[in-house]
Amino acid sequence: MNSSPPSLSVHIKTFGCQMNEYDSGRILKILEPHGYCPALSYDDASVIILNTCSVRKKAEDKLYSELGRIKKMKKKRPDVILGVGGCVAQQEGTKLLKRFPYINFVFGTRSLARLPGILKRAEAGERNVDTEMNMPEDMYPLRPCSPQTSGVTAFVTIMQGCNNYCSYCIVPYVRGREWSRRPSEIKEEIKNLVDCGIREVTLLGQNVNSYGKTLMPMTTFPELLQDLNGIRGLERIRFTTSHPKDLSDELITCFKNIEKLASHIHLPLQSGSNRILKKMNRGYTIETYMKRIDLFRHADPEAAITSDIIVGFPGESEKDFNETVSVIEKTCFDDLFVFHYTDRPDTAASKLSGKIPYKTKLERLSLINKIQNAISIKNNQKLVKKTLSVLFEYPSKKGNNSIAGRTSSNKVVNCKGPVDLIGKTVPVKIEKANVHSLNGVLI
Ligand code: SF4
Repeated sequence: MNSSPPSLSVHIKTFGCQMNEYDSGRILKILEPHGYCPALSYDDASVIILNTCSVRKKAEDKLYSELGRIKKMKKKRPDVILGVGGCVAQQEGTKLLKRFPYINFVFGTRSLARLPGILKRAEAGERNVDTEMNMPEDMYPLRPCSPQTSGVTAFVTIMQGCNNYCSYCIVPYVRGREWSRRPSEIKEEIKNLVDCGIREVTLLGQNVNSYGKTLMPMTTFPELLQDLNGIRGLERIRFTTSHPKDLSDELITCFKNIEKLASHIHLPLQSGSNRILKKMNRGYTIETYMKRIDLFRHADPEAAITSDIIVGFPGESEKDFNETVSVIEKTCFDDLFVFHYTDRPDTAASKLSGKIPYKTKLERLSLINKIQNAISIKNNQKLVKKTLSVLFEYPSKKGNNSIAGRTSSNKVVNCKGPVDLIGKTVPVKIEKANVHSLNGVLI
């Protein structure tokens, strides 16, 4: 028979991106001083929090199916407190409480610091909503060494929100205006992570290269990178995501001069057609994008470049689509994340005519994936017989006494080796190339 859960225990189910994963960790740290401990499952929890994503319709739909499952559970355990946070919560607010009478509280993307009070009110029986976005600063508690901070790599949010208003994107509406954390706070958090054994950090933000513009005194992303490069024990720094229009010469030079900066950039292209880029309000042309890529390759010839593509944007003709294919073939990305366009509430693109049939969107998506897979394997084959430095992160999913890690250029490498190499950077000779990974042997 199940024993009843401890009186204050919280289980968080996270949907969507790495920033949401990071926020779920923050929620636990914010609630901990108020007596809440983490619960491993819904059954062990007195409070359930769904940390949601609305960047794509599919992610939002996942929340609604999860709520259906929780409804059944709440019938058996009506005392469980259910909260919904994150981007869908910010977008829907009170509508969620009306539509789902078993939700006890709703909190937005900038309400995390106020969560203890919100939860207290919910526990006292008050169904409440807090989606206030105008709070100047948020709370980023330090993460002491714990199972959550164990491992080799960690994400660290350095900014959130976005001022760009790309016409298809909901982020500015649900994450608010751009806001950057102080460099000293970021540095302290990373030093603390390094003390817990972390060797590599990925700096997160919706548009990291715009970091620092809201700070007084103003600072820049290259300055932050330079500062973090000095942290003893930290081996690698990655960041995501960058906007092509803000990829400055200074930032490109960092790939040449900053020793710990990994040889990889994720630079979302979205479309290869200038006509569609304009409708997307992306603020660059294909010509300027390609120029940035050339400069970047010149600064770091070994670096990998990955990108995002949206197919089936309203009005995307065969000609526009073929232009995208041609840019992909010319650029030879190391990997691509391809999405088909879906309307997001309140965005400018959702009001555009010329919506593309679902079938066409899927055909375009599948064609690009096929083309990219051929390019990825070709790029990876160039690495066979080379010796690369691999930071090992975890026992390989393949079993077989194998361990897995990544190169500075973010290529996953599997090879046979002892688990005590996890956390170490070791030379590996590459023997085989696959589409999304490499196989090698320890030197
Ligand atoms: S830059 Fe990124 S986060 Fe900002 S609006 Fe455009 S797609 Fe959305």
